[in-house]
Amino acid sequence: GEDDRIAGISSVIRVIRDFPKPGILFQDITTLLLNHKAFKDTIDLFVERYKDKDISVVAGIEARGFIFGPPIALAIGAKFVPIRKPKKLPGEVITEEYSLEYGTDKMEMHVGAVQEGEHALIVDDLIATGGTLSAAIRLLERVGVHVVECACVIELPELKGRDRLGDKPLFVLVS
Ligand code: AMP
Repeated sequence: GEDDRIAGISSVIRVIRDFPKPGILFQDITTLLLNHKAFKDTIDLFVERYKDKDISVVAGIEARGFIFGPPIALAIGAKFVPIRKPKKLPGEVITEEYSLEYGTDKMEMHVGAVQEGEHALIVDDLIATGGTLSAAIRLLERVGVHVVECACVIELPELKGRDRLGDKPLFVLVS
């Protein structure tokens, strides 16, 4: 069943202490990708949830949203749009800033990748403070796209990132 699949996924996510800096418990999904069943179950669980939801855009967040987003997009019949760190996308972009613990960061999306009125799913590997996903939501909403839901493999609930997404639903496999 679904719970067995989620337990299997959870069991192959490697946790690495003090990466990339002291005090961070890094959730490493590369070990999930090495396990065919866990990787397939991850994609299948998202596809089962989103296949009949009339989603025309899967927006994936750099970098690990580029691993999980495209197979979901292909399976549900949607296009894939990358949301990237600054100065990576070659065409005309729109930019959104978001705050970090110290300072700010930015995310960008190509102008013309999505049309007003489209329905989008945003995908990333993990939600921590929710800053990254909130910037992605603003990028899509600025151009008139309806964000149906955000989907992550992992949530770190103690950081309350969910609260930063306003009224946008968040779906996660492992908490
Ligand atoms: P945030 O904007 O704080 O929600 O951070 C989410 C982004 O940072 C995602 O793209 C994650 O891949 C990455 N991230 C933040 N914290 C961790 C962590 N503990 N382990 C792995 N990735 C993380």
